[in-house]
Amino acid sequence: MNRNEIIERLSLSEPDSLAALYAEANEIKTSTIGNKVYLRGLIECSNICNKNCYYCGIRRDNQTVSRYLLSDEEVLSAVDFAWKNRYGSVVLQSGEQQSAHFTNYITRLLHQIKEYTNNEVGITLSCGEQTGATYKEWFKAGAHRYLLRIETSNKVLYYKLHPNDDKHSFDNRLAAIRQLRIEGYQVGTGVMIGLPFQTVDHLADDLLFFRSMDIDMAGMGPYLEHSQTPLYQFRHLLLPPDKRLELALKMVATLRLLMPDINIAATTALQVLHPEGREMAVSAGANIIMPNMTLPKFRPEYLIYEHKPGINDDADISKSKLEQNLQNAGIDIGYNEWGDSRHFTG
Ligand code: SAM
Ligand code: SF4
Repeated sequence: MNRNEIIERLSLSEPDSLAALYAEANEIKTSTIGNKVYLRGLIECSNICNKNCYYCGIRRDNQTVSRYLLSDEEVLSAVDFAWKNRYGSVVLQSGEQQSAHFTNYITRLLHQIKEYTNNEVGITLSCGEQTGATYKEWFKAGAHRYLLRIETSNKVLYYKLHPNDDKHSFDNRLAAIRQLRIEGYQVGTGVMIGLPFQTVDHLADDLLFFRSMDIDMAGMGPYLEHSQTPLYQFRHLLLPPDKRLELALKMVATLRLLMPDINIAATTALQVLHPEGREMAVSAGANIIMPNMTLPKFRPEYLIYEHKPGINDDADISKSKLEQNLQNAGIDIGYNEWGDSRHFTG
């Protein structure tokens, strides 16, 4: 597929053409990697962040957030829930902190999770940009997948979304993604979709960027505005929610056509735009869902965007709703499986 053909797909709007695109992507997924969805229990272990991304609700300068770091016991209790419910994997996610204390914290957690679950649970990390030495240490301690979104592959747009300083360097972020590959991880990246100033051309280039980076996993979701962030002033430039959802689904489907054997997440942000947004993405080619395992009392403090679902949800209830919806759609769940990227494992 060349750039024009990608743009053509991302510009579809006729219901019949959209349905055909989603069906084609779903068919390619099924014939390449099968029909299964893998669940990863998402644990938001800390909202402490040194960065100031203009879009994110837990950015350093948002004083309205009360900051936390989960104790080892709190993380293990979330792991226990995921494991007992036969989720094959967990994801540890956090704001970005580069310190010996934080590095040790994650290393310790990785060892404990492996020991507690008899190495039955796979572990993905999403803890931002770190040094090669830190990535190496965490890989050795048992993490085998890492998600680090490039956010946008267009440098000019990147600096409309981030301060232009050492902490927010596009080149450093790109180098960190490359470093993850060197350290042996399954590498995941992604972008936000429907950002102010973003065009369909940018999104087509994002998909080509994923292919050129030969990524193993992708996590892309709609951008959602947060009133306590600088980017909120540009909300008049945003697509309406239904069109933003549609654009995100077109991105998922087109990426599946472009990279048939990678893991593609149906992200939580989709669920804000439609209660069954994640299930819709699965039907358009996604194969990973990351249900939130964070203890309810911490959830209101990890609002990267507003109206995040599950704030008052009991994990048990949201879990059974999701599984029921998937079953109703005839989709199998890969219980107790790590669900590694076929692109990586071959
Ligand atoms: N701090 C780490 C990092 O930035 O890579 C990991 C955690 S961060 C909260 C995970 C992702 O949340 C980011 O990569 C970004 O794409 C997404 N995110 C942040 N604010 C968002 C917003 N307002 N709408 C949609 N996604 C957002
Ligand atoms: Fe911090 Fe990640 Fe949010 Fe940026 S996106 S402010 S690095 S948590």
